[in-house]
Amino acid sequence: MQMMIMKREGGTGWRWTRQRRLIVEALQGRTDHPTAEELYQELREKGAQISLATVYRNLRALAREGKLKELQGNGPDRFDPNTHPHYHFRCTACGRAFDLELPYRRELDGLDLGQGFRVLGHQLIFLGLCPNCQGKKEEAWPK
Ligand code: ZN
Ligand code: MN
Repeated sequence: MQMMIMKREGGTGWRWTRQRRLIVEALQGRTDHPTAEELYQELREKGAQISLATVYRNLRALAREGKLKELQGNGPDRFDPNTHPHYHFRCTACGRAFDLELPYRRELDGLDLGQGFRVLGHQLIFLGLCPNCQGKKEEAWPK
């Protein structure tokens, strides 16, 4: 059983466990959008006593709280500590996600979609082959 240090932050009810802190630190400043599995492997290699389920649970909680973004797509979800709106490219061969330098189209957030919807933001993920995977035989998503 893992020792956990619980702390409340200013009435928001966020529980900062030691494990969560490890995950936040492992993600900080990264632009490679790791999967839960990749983060888990890295933490284990550094000797952290943590389960894959705990890594998943914390990543999902952090995403719900708006502290990181979840990138969905045809493959395992990837996680992005950069919550500033930006667009992505996902390679359908290797599954990696890349930040794009395209400016965020704020005008799209002002679109009236009808049907009673109110837009708060939008995400855009382009799909295709990264430079590394072009010219190779197209492969299935990594397991
Ligand atoms: Zn690729
Ligand atoms: Mn990103």
